[in-house]
Amino acid sequence: MTDEEIMLDLGEDFPELRQAIRKICEKYPLTYWAKLEDEKGYPVEFVQELTDGGFLAALIPEEYGGAGLPLRAAAVILEEINANGCQASPAHAQMYIMGTLLRHGSAEQKAKYLPDIASGKLRLQAFGVTEPTTGSDTTQLKTRAVRDGNSYVINGQKVWTSRALYSDLLLLLARTTPLDQVAKKTDGISVFLIDLREARGKGVDIRPIAALMNHNTTEVFIEDLRVPGDALIGTEGKGFKYILDGMNAERVLVASECVGDGRYMIKRAVEYAKERRVFNRAIGENQGVQFPIARAYSELEAADLMCRKAAALFDAHQPCGEAANIAKLLASEATWKAADTALQTFGGFGYAQEYGIERKWRECRLYQTAPVSTNLILAYVAQHVLGLPRSY
Ligand SMILES: Cc1cc2nc3c(=O)[nH]c(=O)nc-3n(C[C@H](O)[C@H](O)[C@H](O)COP(=O)(O)OP(=O)(O)OC[C@H]3O[C@@H](n4cnc5c(N)ncnc54)[C@H](O)[C@@H]3O)c2cc1C
Repeated sequence: MTDEEIMLDLGEDFPELRQAIRKICEKYPLTYWAKLEDEKGYPVEFVQELTDGGFLAALIPEEYGGAGLPLRAAAVILEEINANGCQASPAHAQMYIMGTLLRHGSAEQKAKYLPDIASGKLRLQAFGVTEPTTGSDTTQLKTRAVRDGNSYVINGQKVWTSRALYSDLLLLLARTTPLDQVAKKTDGISVFLIDLREARGKGVDIRPIAALMNHNTTEVFIEDLRVPGDALIGTEGKGFKYILDGMNAERVLVASECVGDGRYMIKRAVEYAKERRVFNRAIGENQGVQFPIARAYSELEAADLMCRKAAALFDAHQPCGEAANIAKLLASEATWKAADTALQTFGGFGYAQEYGIERKWRECRLYQTAPVSTNLILAYVAQHVLGLPRSY
């Protein structure tokens, strides 16, 4: 490799993908996202365009109509969406959760769903794990699925199930064997693929949650929902392991989204610092303004390197739990630093909706809580990397 190639590798990898995403994002300016937030709407056109371009099927193998790209390519897509002022979160779940179906679904399930997910005929955007009373302690979840002949009857409640109103399918985690009847608390949990088009109004009630940001997130109430036996993914009782299998990919993808958001905030802060004049000079001439931006940029670059390392390990089928968790930790903090710095740089105008900074600032805060909170990541590093006692 020449030096130029190495530089390129560390810079704009997958340049064609990046260019294509940028072109799409140009059509969805700040006003589009601001209006959507006012209306608490979902970016139907934007997600459709990403779907039509095949971007959301990046990780689906070619035999099922997807692009069969490496994880790093998917990470680049999500990063680039956010780096261009758009929002990856309305569309990202398909990439996050499709892997469970791909790795653990039966041949029939894969043939039935994956081509339609790849083409966009079916939207797989909802993932029901979190529950109101159990939170991060997933093995304590209360949603129960009970075998009844050829079907399962499901009862329970999920909270923060994002995009459920805009998804045809819901990947649902439910307990199939009561906690007091399993050897390990991680046993007895199963994954189901629920067809929401059939289930809504017949046992599933979805209610939007008003939240800090427009994330189309909901509460899902499940009462005597009857689903066919073949809604079960893989082996009954092994669902917790299946979900864990997908965690590293999810961490890498969400970390890349953070990097994208951080890049956007730094770009906006730099532009504004150059153009805003106070005391007869650009505010960016002051070290008090430029140093925080330079620091946030530096921290983001470090996080980006960790994202690339984690994705490279994943794509090389090497153990990547440490790198993926650290990437998510560093990127979520770096994006928040970048967002807060941008808000400060914009002064009062940072608070004006018109500039879009306060909206992104709110969005950038989420990553320290969802899809997994920082403490849980630190607990992973402490226990699994450093060998410290399990703390929870
Ligand atoms: C906008 C949004 C969208 C979301 N989308 C989805 C979704 O689509 N699907 C889904 O299933 N979930 C979703 N979530 C839920 C999200 O994954 C959870 O909020 C997150 O995992 C934390 O769970 P909790 O909110 O119950 O917090 P809790 O588990 O109650 O934790 C509260 C705080 O205590 C800390 N804490 C808890 N236990 C420990 C411990 N042992 N040691 C140290 N600190 C601890 C946590 O780190 C956290 O800071 C979403 C959340 C939000 C806000």
